[in-house]
Amino acid sequence: MQRYSQQIDKRYNQHYTVNKKPYFTVTCFSLVAIIILLIIAIAVTRHDYKKSQTLFADQSSQTIVSNGETPVSSQNQEEEPVSSEPEIIEITEGYSVLNFTGQVDDWRLKMANRLNIIEDYTPNVTAIGSQYCQYGDSYEIDERVYDDLIDMITAAENDGVDLIAVSAYRSFSSQQRLYERKVQTYLDQGYSRKKAEDIAGTIVAVPGTSDHNLGLAVDFNYLEQHYENTEELVWLKENAEKYGFVMRYPKDKENYTGVIYEPWHYRYVGKEHAKVMNEKNMCLEEYVKYLSKNS
Ligand SMILES: [Zn+2]
Repeated sequence: MQRYSQQIDKRYNQHYTVNKKPYFTVTCFSLVAIIILLIIAIAVTRHDYKKSQTLFADQSSQTIVSNGETPVSSQNQEEEPVSSEPEIIEITEGYSVLNFTGQVDDWRLKMANRLNIIEDYTPNVTAIGSQYCQYGDSYEIDERVYDDLIDMITAAENDGVDLIAVSAYRSFSSQQRLYERKVQTYLDQGYSRKKAEDIAGTIVAVPGTSDHNLGLAVDFNYLEQHYENTEELVWLKENAEKYGFVMRYPKDKENYTGVIYEPWHYRYVGKEHAKVMNEKNMCLEEYVKYLSKNS
């Protein structure tokens, strides 16, 4: 019995020894095959990645074309030097404005902000009518805007929404008074003149930097952000464009306008501009800059 098992062991060992060489050769071949396959796989992946990058570049240039803008070849983009100009400039702590100075030749797009201060501008204004204003006051607006404004208020009325103007044109001198009063509040609280002006300027527009000084803006119904979902402000958001008005200080554009989100402040820009601005999701600063660079 013992002998038999020894024989089996021997045979097994012999078998093992005899087959050791081919086993080693097969392993070597497998390893080489795996390495070759790996090299092919890496080469194919790299090729696909390059291809997908080209495809992506093509898609993005198509998007530019579909937006109605001039297509720019990727070659030109590479040649363009990187601009060192900052996109926005910080006016006071936490408040920035789009880094652009200039105007386009269209009274409806006149832009007032901390970098584009408008002085010596007195529009011809007309009364809106006390029936459309708070407390029976009659605010005024640039007379060229009057018809579209009344059309808008009437359309809202027909939809069961009462738009009430709570502020409109403010002359440079009345803006000055408002601003000085605010500055005084902070001076009284012990702030330095500079700091008091900085804070006041984020709440009341610095004279010459407000749409209200241009006679092109109306504040409606509520002057606080948490009223953004009231039927009046929602109606305006959805319909103002049809009458040539846009929300002048949107939520996501505070760094460009330098003014906090004001869902109640509507600014006249004319119907065709309002439509394009909304389509492109541009605030007035971006739009005026865009028109200046593309004209
Ligand atoms: Zn306003």
